[in-house]
Amino acid sequence: MTQISSPLHPTVETTLIGKNADAREIDKFSELAHRWWDPESEFKPLHELNPLRLGWIDGIASLKGKDVVDIGCGGGILAESMARTGATVRGIDLSTKALKVADLHSLESGVTVTYEEIAAEALAARMPASVDVVTCMEMLEHVPDPQSVLRACATLVRPGGHVFCSTINRNLKAYLLAVVGAEYVLKMLPRGTHDYDKFITPSELARYARNTGLELVEMRGMTYNPLTQVYSLGRDTDVNYMMAFRRPA
Ligand code: SAH
Repeated sequence: MTQISSPLHPTVETTLIGKNADAREIDKFSELAHRWWDPESEFKPLHELNPLRLGWIDGIASLKGKDVVDIGCGGGILAESMARTGATVRGIDLSTKALKVADLHSLESGVTVTYEEIAAEALAARMPASVDVVTCMEMLEHVPDPQSVLRACATLVRPGGHVFCSTINRNLKAYLLAVVGAEYVLKMLPRGTHDYDKFITPSELARYARNTGLELVEMRGMTYNPLTQVYSLGRDTDVNYMMAFRRPA
């Protein structure tokens, strides 16, 4: 166990693998990996959100013909959908099992995505300023040092390119909906999927990005109506939200 602390987050216990990854977080996703493409599984929320976030990203960055890196791609739900729109996509993650599932699915679907087990920081060091678009969705709240991931995003993207991140806000409503509601009441996610202390407020995420020279372009809230079971995008960023950034040209 390693104790890490940051000025923003209380001290958290974490088992670091490599520089900026928590083994328990990676294991959580590896255990569920075989269900990644089951639309009724724990990954149902990601399947349902995907068309909305894809449309939003495409509206800002016009994915067709673009080079994209998807950080924390998991089984490839977003990565494949971006490739389908005509982007050349590289998906990276540290869960070997999730990447295997992603690879198999890409073979089955015939949608080409290049998957690689590598940390964001290492890929950024290898190919700086080389891609048009970086996406990093629902991943930052699982890493020990989100600032370091933002730095990798900003390094990877070419001047004038875009970076898209999504995560979960940190406040009482987010705790009640994303942890108590989703994991304990509605049981949409396994207990322990999310650790409240690692949630990130929009101002923190904006600051991480600003520290790396990225400019905030747009922000969108993602809301879930448990009665209609419908997701939508809008101004409510109290719980789930996405931010689009641009590296100045
Ligand atoms: N981005 C995908 C999957 C989100 S689930 C989507 O939105 O559809 C979170 C993913 O982040 C998992 O696949 C997990 O293995 C990965 N992850 C967690 N910590 C990571 C780290 N430090 N580096 C890379 N990937 C990580």
